[in-house]
Amino acid sequence: TWSHIPAGPPDPILGVTEAFKADTSAKKINLGVGAYRDENGKPYVLPSVQKAEQILTGKKLDKEYLPITGLAEFTREAVKLAYGVDSVPLKENRIAVTQSISGTGALRVGGAFIARHYPHENRKIIYIPKPSWGNHTPVFRDSGLEVRGYRYFNKATVGLDFAGLKEDLRAAPERSIVLLHACAHNPTGVDPTPEQWKEISDIVQEKQLFPFFDMAYQGFASGSTSRDAFAVRYFVEQGHQIALAQSFAKNMGLYGERVGAFSLVTADPAERARVDSQIKIVVRPMYSNPPLHGAHIAATILSNPDIYAQWEQEVKGMAERIISMRDKLYNALTHDLGTPGKWDHIKSQIGMFRQVVPAISFTGLTADQTKALAEKAHVYMTADGRISMAGLNNSNIGYFAESVHKAVKD
Ligand code: PMP
Repeated sequence: TWSHIPAGPPDPILGVTEAFKADTSAKKINLGVGAYRDENGKPYVLPSVQKAEQILTGKKLDKEYLPITGLAEFTREAVKLAYGVDSVPLKENRIAVTQSISGTGALRVGGAFIARHYPHENRKIIYIPKPSWGNHTPVFRDSGLEVRGYRYFNKATVGLDFAGLKEDLRAAPERSIVLLHACAHNPTGVDPTPEQWKEISDIVQEKQLFPFFDMAYQGFASGSTSRDAFAVRYFVEQGHQIALAQSFAKNMGLYGERVGAFSLVTADPAERARVDSQIKIVVRPMYSNPPLHGAHIAATILSNPDIYAQWEQEVKGMAERIISMRDKLYNALTHDLGTPGKWDHIKSQIGMFRQVVPAISFTGLTADQTKALAEKAHVYMTADGRISMAGLNNSNIGYFAESVHKAVKD
C-alpha cells in the first residue's frame, strides 16, 4: 500500500542533535537545539517548577480529563501574563482562550480556526517573516492557509530590514493575516524597536491586516516578562483584535510538558462565548483535550505570588546568562582573536538565538565550511548558521570562539 511513498527529508534541527550524539569527541558542542542549558551545559529544571511540583504532589490530584479548552486556572493566568493585568479586553471578559499543546499547538489551533472562520474568504493568506521559525510554514500550510513571506532580515547589517518589511506589508492584499514574533525573533534574534512596532501597528491598521502574534519567548529577550510583552500589549491598546500563541516551553523550561495557550481578542463577551464554542469544535477532533500536569505547574507558579516572584527572577537569570555569553563571545572574537568581519550584531541581537552565518559569510564561509566546523571542530549548529547561545558556557566559549575564528580564516 505504501510502496509509492518517498522518504521525507530529516528535520533540519533534530538532525543536528543526532549528528551531535554520534560524535564521541569530548570537545563537542551542540548549538543546534533551542533549549536552555545551565552553566554546566545541562538541561535546567527551574527551582520554581520544582516547588510547584512539590505543592501539586501534596494535593494528590486525580488524573481525570481536562475540559476541551484546558485548565481554566491556567488559561486565566496565561492571558494575564501576556496581555497584562490592566488589559481592557481582559477586564471586559472578551478574550477567548484555550490551553494548547505548547506554542506549536497554539499556532496550529489558531491556523485551523482562522482557516475555518476568517470571514474574508479570499484573504486566507498568512505573511510570515523571511526568515522565520522553520515550522511556521508547514503549520500554517497544514492548517489550510496560504503562506507568503515579508522581508525581515537584512544580511548586510545583520539587523532588521525595516524598509523592506514596511514595503511588503503595504503591498500585501488588504485583510491578509500577518504573523509577528512578539519578541526574541527566531532564528535571527532581531526584534523591532518600540518605535518600529508603532509604525507596524499603523500599517496593520491602514491595510486592515489581521495580526497573529507568536510569543514563544516571553521574558527571554529582556529578562522581563512585561517588557517582552510590549508589542502584544501595544497592539491591543491600539484596538487591534489580535490572535496570540503562547508557549511556556522556554520561559518555564517546560518543553516536553507541552504547555501553551491560544487566544483571540473579540468584540464583546457574547462574541467571546461564541468564539470559545467554535474553538472547542476545532480542538475536539484534533486531540480531544490537553495534558494535565504542565498546566497545573504553570497555573501554580502564575497564581502564587511568592513562586511567581521567584520564577520572574529565574527567567531573568536565564536571560542574563545568555547576555553574558553574548558579551564574552563578542569580546573573544573582536578583542582577543581579532577575527575578520564585524561582530557587533552578536551584542545587539536579542534572546536565545544568534545568526552567525551572515557575519561569517562576509568573509566567505560557505555552507560546506559550516559543515567542516562540525566535522573538524565538533561544533554543531543548524545549516542556516543559527546558534543557540544557551549552549555556550564559561567552559566551552573559548573553544567555540577559536573554532569560529579558524573557520573564518581557513
Ligand atoms: N514559535 C517559535 C518562534 C519557536 O521558536 C518555537 C520553539 N522553537 C515555537 C513557536 C514552539 O515551540 P513549542 O511548541 O515547543 O512551544
